[in-house]
Amino acid sequence: MPGFEIFGDEERKEVNDVLSTGVLFRYGFDNARNDHWKAKSFEKEFSQYMNVEHCLLLSSGTSALTTALTAMGIGANDEVIVPPFTFVATVEAVIAVGAIPIFADVDDTLCLSPKSVLSKISDRTKAVIVVHMCGSMAHIDELQQICKSKNIFLVEDSCQATGSDFNGKKIGTFGDVGCFSFDSVKTITCGEGGAIITNNYDIYSKSDAYSDHGHDHIGNDRGKEGHPIIGMNYRISELNAAVGLAQLRKIDKIIEIQRKNQIALEEILLKYDFIKLRNVPDKKGDSATFISFFAETEEQARNLTSILQKNGFDGVFYWYDNNWHYIRKWEHITNLITANRLGLHNYKELPDYNNLDLHQSDAIISRLISIQIKISWSESEVQRRRELLDKSLMELI
Ligand SMILES: *Cc1c(COP(=O)(O)O)cnc(C)c1O
Repeated sequence: MPGFEIFGDEERKEVNDVLSTGVLFRYGFDNARNDHWKAKSFEKEFSQYMNVEHCLLLSSGTSALTTALTAMGIGANDEVIVPPFTFVATVEAVIAVGAIPIFADVDDTLCLSPKSVLSKISDRTKAVIVVHMCGSMAHIDELQQICKSKNIFLVEDSCQATGSDFNGKKIGTFGDVGCFSFDSVKTITCGEGGAIITNNYDIYSKSDAYSDHGHDHIGNDRGKEGHPIIGMNYRISELNAAVGLAQLRKIDKIIEIQRKNQIALEEILLKYDFIKLRNVPDKKGDSATFISFFAETEEQARNLTSILQKNGFDGVFYWYDNNWHYIRKWEHITNLITANRLGLHNYKELPDYNNLDLHQSDAIISRLISIQIKISWSESEVQRRRELLDKSLMELI
């Protein structure tokens, strides 16, 4: 997860282009900007990288999800299927548009289980948001098939999986929309930023308008532009886009280093039969921001986590106890605690979020450990980590 690890001359150069003109706004000021269009350039290069028609760069991954759901027409009384293992933003976006989050289980890919998704589809279901967690992918082909056959939207929350692919096709291009985050702990960063990608012009153009107060962006006088829909402001600044542009040009290198470092740790884990690696549907396509694996029991996972921590191995995540990534600690969400009153609070027939049956997800996440992969590790640091990991696993036996 190197977004925060690198900030080099390339990033500084792109930012300085913007500083040299003082045009920090992504739209207009054509004469003053000396032909620097950082957000637009990012969109063009990211579309090419992803091999899609449209990209819209926004202020965050959360605004990308909110904009995408809005543009697809999802709102009051609609149900959206989400996983209980994700960063809370996925669920926040559903609540923000006034739709009802419906939790389905995850499987050993750490992503939505196609079988569980099928069992949760009702006549109110409008979309499934699959979250490609911890750098790698869901059974995206099966989920795509299910959504097509049920005629519901598939949104890929690819915020944690930028650059991963499945059978040679980029993650984020299987659904109707792919959403990305470029906050500072993601694979590449804008400081703050996010994007949607799609091949659907209607979704793109509604997103384009919604994220900028409804502007249709037709003509060259912003004040005279039309406003086909009511919007919001989820724009990115040119300064943030400039950082992202430099980072995007480094993405292949970043992923290559991550994969190499991931394999170095994987070799140690494979020596122990009580450890099972996470199921990665296409191993070659893992963006390798983490190495994730299961212990045999919750107790064993907890013990190994403490041993690793005691031995000074940092960047170890035991997600089951995590405040932000697993539903068990999301009492603000399960009790629908908001600062204001929402339409959602008046709905009848809401799920009883405090008594959901997610035992399949519990059985998976309670045994799960992830180790963060960094690109700044030197060879001796990788070696030190291999030894520490080995030593910790030996201590466990
Ligand atoms: C980071 C993240 C988001 C939100 O992205 P921000 O840019 O921080 O708003 C959404 N979903 C997942 C899975 C994430 O990891």
